[in-house]
Amino acid sequence: MSGALVLVATPIGNLGDLSPRAVEELGRAEAVACEDTRRTGRLLAHVGVRAPVLLVVNDHTEAGAVADVLARLDRGERVAVVTDAGMPGISDPGERLVAAAAAAGHTVEVVPGPSAAIAGLVASGLPTGRFTFEGFLPRKGSGRTERLAAVAAQPCTVVLYEAPHRLARTLADLEAACGPTRRVALARELTKLHEELWRGSLAEAVARCAEVEPRGEYVVVLDGAPAPEVADDDAIRAALEVEKGGGATTRDAVSNVAAALGVPRRRVYDIAVSG
Ligand code: SAM
Repeated sequence: MSGALVLVATPIGNLGDLSPRAVEELGRAEAVACEDTRRTGRLLAHVGVRAPVLLVVNDHTEAGAVADVLARLDRGERVAVVTDAGMPGISDPGERLVAAAAAAGHTVEVVPGPSAAIAGLVASGLPTGRFTFEGFLPRKGSGRTERLAAVAAQPCTVVLYEAPHRLARTLADLEAACGPTRRVALARELTKLHEELWRGSLAEAVARCAEVEPRGEYVVVLDGAPAPEVADDDAIRAALEVEKGGGATTRDAVSNVAAALGVPRRRVYDIAVSG
C-alpha cells in the first residue's frame, strides 16, 4: 500500500461543518498531524475517532516534523493533516509538509471544507470573480507599509485575516492607504452563535471600531482599487489648450498632456492636429 498525505479541513466554529469524508479520512489515518493535540483530541472524540498517533505540527515544529512525516509516508502510512480550524496551509501549517511530500513523490490528497477566507469573501457582497488573499499583514515596519501600499493598489477584492485587538489599527492603516470611501466588509465569528456581517466604508469601519470593541475572529474583505479614469477627447483638448496658452510647442504640449493624463501620445497628437 502506498502512503498519502491527506489535508483535512475542519470547522471554523460550527462542528456540524465537519464533513463525513473528513471523519472517514481521520479514522483511516495511521497518524494525524495537528497544531494542538488537546484541541484535535476533542474534535476526534466528538466524532468517535481514536487516532493511533497525534503528531504536533505547528509554526515552530513543522520544519522539524517533515522528516518524521516523510518516513511514515515511505512506510505506506496515511498521514492526515489538520489545524485548529479551517483549511491547513491557509495562514496555518501544512505548506511545508505538502511541498516535501510532493517533492519526494508521495501522493497528496485533500478533503476540502471550511475556510474563513472563502466564507468571508462570498458573504461580503463584494466582487468574488477575482480576489487576492493576503492573510495577516506584517505587524510593523517597512514590510507592513509596503504591503499596505500593495493592498491599496490591488484592483481586485482583497481578503485579510486580523486578530480582534489589532483590527482598529489595521482598519485605520487601510483607510490611510486606500482612502476613507473604499468599501469593506467585516465578517465576524463566521458559523458561530455571534456571526455578523458588517458592510460599509473604511471611514465608517474605523468609527465603528472606536464605538464597539472588536471581539472574536474577523475576516476583512476590502473592495479593489477603482479603475483609473480614462480621459475623454474633450479633457485632452482642454489640457492641450492650457499647454499651448502657456507657450508650449505642439510637440511639447502633446508630450506633457500624454504624461499628465496617462494616455498614448499618438492619441493626443491626433487630437492636437485635428484641431
Ligand atoms: N486555516 C484557517 C482557515 O482556513 O480559515 C485560518 C487560520 S488563521 C491562523 C486564523 C484566522 O482566521 C483568524 O485570526 C481570523 O482572522 C480567521 N478566522 C478563523 N475562524 C474564523 C471565523 N469563524 N470567523 C471569522 N474569521 C475567522
